[in-house]
Amino acid sequence: MRSRCEYLTARCPYGCEVWLHPRAVAPHHDRCAGHRWTDQRLPVTQISLSDEQADLARLICPPEQLRRPEFRGDRLRNPRPGMRLHGGLVAGVIVESPVPAVTGRRWWTVVRTGHEQGWSTDLALEPESFAHLEKQLGLGDHFANCTICGDDITPSRMKNHHKTNSVCRFLADTAEVRTFWKLGYRDPYLVQGDGVPITWTELNSRVAWRTRLHIVRFRLWTAVMISAAEGPTESRP
Ligand SMILES: [Zn+2]
Ligand SMILES: [Zn+2]
Repeated sequence: MRSRCEYLTARCPYGCEVWLHPRAVAPHHDRCAGHRWTDQRLPVTQISLSDEQADLARLICPPEQLRRPEFRGDRLRNPRPGMRLHGGLVAGVIVESPVPAVTGRRWWTVVRTGHEQGWSTDLALEPESFAHLEKQLGLGDHFANCTICGDDITPSRMKNHHKTNSVCRFLADTAEVRTFWKLGYRDPYLVQGDGVPITWTELNSRVAWRTRLHIVRFRLWTAVMISAAEGPTESRP
Protein backbone atom coordinates (compact mmCIF):
# COMPACT_ATOMS: atom_id res chain seq x y z
CA MET A 1 0.00 0.00 0.00
CA ARG A 2 2.76 2.36 0.97
CA SER A 3 4.29 2.24 -2.50
CA ARG A 4 1.05 3.50 -4.01
CA CYS A 5 1.53 6.68 -2.00
CA GLU A 6 5.04 7.36 -3.18
CA TYR A 7 3.84 10.05 -5.49
CA LEU A 8 0.81 12.18 -4.72
CA THR A 9 -2.13 12.53 -7.03
CA ALA A 10 -4.32 15.53 -7.73
CA ARG A 11 -8.09 15.46 -7.92
CA CYS A 12 -9.56 16.16 -11.36
CA PRO A 13 -11.08 19.66 -11.03
CA TYR A 14 -13.68 19.03 -13.76
CA GLY A 15 -15.99 16.66 -11.93
CA CYS A 16 -15.11 13.09 -12.94
CA GLU A 17 -13.60 12.33 -9.49
CA VAL A 18 -10.51 10.72 -10.96
CA TRP A 19 -7.18 11.40 -9.22
CA LEU A 20 -4.30 11.88 -11.58
CA HIS A 21 -0.65 12.62 -11.69
CA PRO A 22 -0.62 16.43 -11.35
CA ARG A 23 1.03 16.88 -14.71
CA ALA A 24 -1.75 14.81 -16.32
CA VAL A 25 -4.53 17.11 -15.08
CA ALA A 26 -4.21 19.72 -17.84
CA PRO A 27 -4.12 17.23 -20.77
CA HIS A 28 -6.97 15.34 -19.11
CA HIS A 29 -9.27 18.35 -19.50
CA ASP A 30 -10.20 17.55 -23.09
CA ARG A 31 -11.04 13.95 -22.29
CA CYS A 32 -12.85 14.53 -19.01
CA ALA A 33 -16.50 13.45 -19.04
CA GLY A 34 -17.33 16.06 -16.38
CA HIS A 35 -19.13 13.54 -14.19
CA ARG A 36 -18.41 10.27 -12.44
CA TRP A 37 -18.39 7.27 -14.76
CA THR A 38 -20.78 5.59 -12.33
CA ASP A 39 -23.38 8.30 -13.06
CA GLN A 40 -23.92 6.65 -16.42
CA ARG A 41 -24.57 3.18 -15.11
CA LEU A 42 -27.95 1.58 -15.62
CA PRO A 43 -30.53 2.58 -13.02
CA VAL A 44 -30.98 -0.23 -10.50
CA THR A 45 -34.49 -0.82 -11.81
CA GLN A 46 -32.82 -2.27 -14.92
CA ILE A 47 -30.69 -5.34 -15.34
CA SER A 48 -28.55 -6.24 -18.30
CA LEU A 49 -28.83 -9.87 -19.44
CA SER A 50 -26.88 -11.87 -21.98
CA ASP A 51 -26.96 -15.22 -23.73
CA GLU A 52 -29.58 -17.73 -22.50
CA GLN A 53 -30.93 -15.32 -19.89
CA ALA A 54 -31.52 -12.70 -22.58
CA ASP A 55 -33.25 -15.29 -24.78
CA LEU A 56 -35.46 -16.32 -21.89
CA ALA A 57 -36.31 -12.71 -21.04
CA ARG A 58 -37.38 -12.06 -24.64
CA LEU A 59 -39.62 -15.11 -24.37
CA ILE A 60 -41.32 -14.47 -21.03
CA CYS A 61 -41.26 -10.67 -20.46
CA PRO A 62 -43.73 -8.21 -21.97
CA PRO A 63 -42.00 -6.18 -24.72
CA GLU A 64 -42.59 -2.96 -22.72
CA GLN A 65 -40.14 -4.25 -20.09
CA LEU A 66 -37.35 -4.87 -22.60
CA ARG A 67 -34.80 -2.38 -23.89
CA ARG A 68 -32.00 -2.69 -26.37
CA PRO A 69 -28.64 -2.05 -24.77
CA GLU A 70 -27.11 1.23 -25.88
CA PHE A 71 -23.49 2.07 -25.33
CA ARG A 72 -21.81 5.35 -26.01
CA GLY A 73 -19.12 5.08 -28.63
CA ASP A 74 -16.32 6.03 -26.27
CA ARG A 75 -17.28 3.24 -23.91
CA LEU A 76 -16.91 0.75 -26.74
CA ARG A 77 -13.61 2.19 -27.89
CA ASN A 78 -12.11 3.24 -24.61
CA PRO A 79 -13.66 1.40 -21.65
CA ARG A 80 -12.99 2.74 -18.17
CA PRO A 81 -12.12 0.48 -15.25
CA GLY A 82 -14.97 -1.83 -14.42
CA MET A 83 -16.86 -0.94 -17.58
CA ARG A 84 -15.29 -3.36 -20.01
CA LEU A 85 -17.97 -4.60 -22.34
CA HIS A 86 -18.62 -8.21 -23.08
CA GLY A 87 -19.90 -9.08 -26.53
CA GLY A 88 -22.74 -10.99 -24.90
CA LEU A 89 -24.04 -7.86 -23.17
CA VAL A 90 -23.96 -5.80 -26.36
CA ALA A 91 -26.05 -8.50 -28.06
CA GLY A 92 -28.16 -8.99 -24.92
CA VAL A 93 -31.20 -7.25 -23.54
CA ILE A 94 -32.02 -4.88 -20.70
CA VAL A 95 -34.95 -5.83 -18.52
CA GLU A 96 -36.72 -3.07 -16.62
CA SER A 97 -38.71 -3.78 -13.49
CA PRO A 98 -42.29 -2.50 -13.87
CA VAL A 99 -42.43 -1.97 -10.09
CA PRO A 100 -40.39 1.17 -9.36
CA ALA A 101 -39.46 0.13 -5.82
CA VAL A 102 -38.13 -3.22 -7.01
CA THR A 103 -34.69 -3.52 -8.59
CA GLY A 104 -34.28 -5.13 -11.99
CA ARG A 105 -32.19 -7.88 -10.44
CA ARG A 106 -34.84 -8.76 -7.89
CA TRP A 107 -37.70 -8.56 -10.39
CA TRP A 108 -35.93 -10.75 -12.91
CA THR A 109 -35.01 -13.32 -10.26
CA VAL A 110 -38.66 -13.64 -9.26
CA VAL A 111 -39.90 -13.78 -12.87
CA ARG A 112 -37.31 -16.37 -13.91
CA THR A 113 -37.85 -18.57 -10.85
CA GLY A 114 -41.62 -18.21 -11.28
CA HIS A 115 -41.35 -19.28 -14.90
CA GLU A 116 -39.36 -22.39 -13.92
CA GLN A 117 -42.19 -23.30 -11.57
CA GLY A 118 -44.96 -22.64 -14.06
CA TRP A 119 -46.11 -19.15 -13.01
CA SER A 120 -47.00 -16.47 -15.52
CA THR A 121 -44.98 -13.23 -15.72
CA ASP A 122 -48.32 -11.36 -15.60
CA LEU A 123 -48.33 -12.01 -11.86
CA ALA A 124 -45.19 -9.89 -11.43
CA LEU A 125 -46.41 -6.74 -13.15
CA GLU A 126 -48.25 -5.09 -10.22
CA PRO A 127 -46.67 -4.33 -6.83
CA GLU A 128 -49.13 -6.42 -4.83
CA SER A 129 -49.18 -9.51 -7.00
CA PHE A 130 -45.39 -9.27 -7.34
CA ALA A 131 -44.95 -9.28 -3.56
CA HIS A 132 -47.31 -12.24 -3.33
CA LEU A 133 -45.48 -14.20 -6.03
CA GLU A 134 -42.09 -13.43 -4.45
CA LYS A 135 -43.33 -14.80 -1.14
CA GLN A 136 -44.88 -17.87 -2.77
CA LEU A 137 -41.54 -18.66 -4.36
CA GLY A 138 -39.73 -18.32 -1.04
CA LEU A 139 -37.66 -15.40 -2.34
CA GLY A 140 -38.82 -12.82 0.20
CA ASP A 141 -35.47 -12.82 2.02
CA HIS A 142 -33.32 -13.65 -0.97
CA PHE A 143 -31.87 -10.14 -1.37
CA ALA A 144 -30.75 -7.28 0.82
CA ASN A 145 -30.48 -3.73 -0.51
CA CYS A 146 -27.00 -2.21 -0.71
CA THR A 147 -27.11 1.19 0.98
CA ILE A 148 -24.25 2.48 -1.20
CA CYS A 149 -25.25 1.60 -4.76
CA GLY A 150 -28.91 0.68 -4.22
CA ASP A 151 -28.69 -2.69 -5.94
CA ASP A 152 -30.04 -5.89 -4.45
CA ILE A 153 -27.41 -8.38 -3.37
CA THR A 154 -27.78 -11.71 -1.57
CA PRO A 155 -26.88 -11.09 2.10
CA SER A 156 -24.03 -13.62 2.05
CA ARG A 157 -22.36 -11.74 -0.81
CA MET A 158 -22.85 -8.22 0.57
CA LYS A 159 -19.46 -7.93 2.23
CA ASN A 160 -17.68 -9.14 -0.86
CA HIS A 161 -19.84 -6.86 -3.01
CA HIS A 162 -18.69 -3.80 -1.04
CA LYS A 163 -15.09 -4.85 -1.47
CA THR A 164 -15.07 -5.89 -5.11
CA ASN A 165 -17.93 -4.22 -6.97
CA SER A 166 -16.42 -1.43 -9.10
CA VAL A 167 -19.50 0.79 -9.02
CA CYS A 168 -20.06 0.37 -5.31
CA ARG A 169 -16.41 0.99 -4.40
CA PHE A 170 -16.14 4.04 -6.60
CA LEU A 171 -19.34 5.52 -5.14
CA ALA A 172 -18.14 4.91 -1.58
CA ASP A 173 -14.66 6.31 -2.27
CA THR A 174 -15.90 9.45 -4.04
CA ALA A 175 -18.48 10.01 -1.30
CA GLU A 176 -15.65 9.92 1.24
CA VAL A 177 -13.60 12.39 -0.81
CA ARG A 178 -16.60 14.72 -1.13
CA THR A 179 -17.28 14.59 2.60
CA PHE A 180 -13.71 15.53 3.47
CA TRP A 181 -13.59 18.15 0.70
CA LYS A 182 -16.57 19.84 2.33
CA LEU A 183 -14.67 19.81 5.60
CA GLY A 184 -11.86 21.76 3.96
CA TYR A 185 -9.54 18.97 2.85
CA ARG A 186 -7.79 19.46 -0.51
CA ASP A 187 -5.21 17.70 -2.58
CA PRO A 188 -1.81 19.16 -1.62
CA TYR A 189 -1.37 20.75 -5.06
CA LEU A 190 -4.29 23.08 -4.48
CA VAL A 191 -2.85 24.46 -1.26
CA GLN A 192 0.87 24.40 -2.01
CA GLY A 193 0.80 28.21 -2.12
CA ASP A 194 0.07 28.08 1.61
CA GLY A 195 3.32 26.26 2.19
CA VAL A 196 1.88 22.75 2.09
CA PRO A 197 4.51 20.29 0.86
CA ILE A 198 3.66 18.32 -2.23
CA THR A 199 5.81 15.27 -1.74
CA TRP A 200 4.86 12.27 0.31
CA THR A 201 8.21 12.24 2.08
CA GLU A 202 7.87 15.84 3.20
CA LEU A 203 4.25 15.42 4.23
CA ASN A 204 5.28 12.48 6.36
CA SER A 205 8.35 14.06 7.81
CA ARG A 206 6.55 16.32 10.24
CA VAL A 207 3.80 15.27 12.60
CA ALA A 208 2.11 18.61 12.03
CA TRP A 209 1.50 17.74 8.39
CA ARG A 210 0.92 14.06 8.96
CA THR A 211 -1.94 14.64 11.39
CA ARG A 212 -3.76 16.75 8.81
CA LEU A 213 -3.81 14.01 6.16
CA HIS A 214 -6.75 11.94 5.10
CA ILE A 215 -6.16 9.05 2.71
CA VAL A 216 -8.79 7.39 0.53
CA ARG A 217 -7.66 4.21 -1.16
CA PHE A 218 -9.45 3.93 -4.46
CA ARG A 219 -9.11 0.74 -6.40
CA LEU A 220 -6.72 2.22 -8.96
CA TRP A 221 -5.15 5.13 -7.11
CA THR A 222 -4.68 6.62 -3.69
CA ALA A 223 -6.11 10.02 -2.87
CA VAL A 224 -4.09 11.92 -0.28
CA MET A 225 -5.86 14.98 1.08
CA ILE A 226 -4.66 17.53 3.53
CA SER A 227 -6.80 19.67 5.79
CA ALA A 228 -6.47 23.22 4.49
CA ALA A 229 -8.52 24.70 7.29
CA GLU A 230 -5.56 25.52 9.55
CA GLY A 231 -1.83 26.05 9.43
CA PRO A 232 0.67 23.63 10.93
CA THR A 233 -0.20 23.23 14.57
CA GLU A 234 3.25 22.72 16.03
CA SER A 235 4.19 25.43 18.46
CA ARG A 236 6.84 27.92 17.44
CA PRO A 237 9.75 28.83 19.62
ZN1 LIG B 1 -11.86 14.51 -15.05
ZN1 LIG C 1 -23.41 -1.68 -3.58
